[in-house]
Amino acid sequence: MDFVFAPHAVPVLPVLGTEQRFPVRRVFCVGRNYADHAREMGAVDQAEGREPPFFFTKPADAVVGGTGELSVKYPPQTSNLHHEVEMVVALGAGGENVAVDAAKGLIFGYAVGLDLTRRDMQAKAKSKSHPWDMSKGFDQSAVAGVITPVALSGYPEAGRIWLKVNGQIRQEGDLSAMMWTVADIIANLSTLVRLEAGDLIYTGTPAGVGPLVRGDVLEAGVDGLCPLQAQIR
Ligand code: MN
Repeated sequence: MDFVFAPHAVPVLPVLGTEQRFPVRRVFCVGRNYADHAREMGAVDQAEGREPPFFFTKPADAVVGGTGELSVKYPPQTSNLHHEVEMVVALGAGGENVAVDAAKGLIFGYAVGLDLTRRDMQAKAKSKSHPWDMSKGFDQSAVAGVITPVALSGYPEAGRIWLKVNGQIRQEGDLSAMMWTVADIIANLSTLVRLEAGDLIYTGTPAGVGPLVRGDVLEAGVDGLCPLQAQIR
């Protein structure tokens, strides 16, 4: 086929233990999945009574991935760029209306990720009931480390999730505190859209989100997964 210009390259993530790359199709994110973070954002009802999960998306080409220290550009049009450390689920198979019991069968592996957020813009959007797209889905907003395949990680449901900025711990929580488990999230999301191999799901952040500035060095981890290193430029 002749294209009017060369098609853009598919965003890819490295995979632990192989030279093969994981091609990214779509990026989904879950909002407020840890009660302590829901509370710090002022969403008291969400923290006290479990409401259905809600989702937003980022473009696939917002993904910044690779090995070693990742370089992330500080975005324009914000003076309050926030870190949100999250476990990222990488799907190796798809489906719709997936049963909770069958959800694990879709998972290829897991990565440590950052759902970077223009918090000032998001607060304004919330107050005006405007969409979140430009506060969440900007260039380089979806940082992801090396994918650890399930053969090496198993299916983590508990374990520490943490983020350090310039050596200081900023976020710390446990996967077991998720209000919606990974299986619940996959099942619920698959009632809304057809999931496919290559989809990434950011599964929410624990408390402690806060601002970043240029030059900050970030280290993040989830027990049992490849850690993530990044610098804001
Ligand atoms: Mn998030």
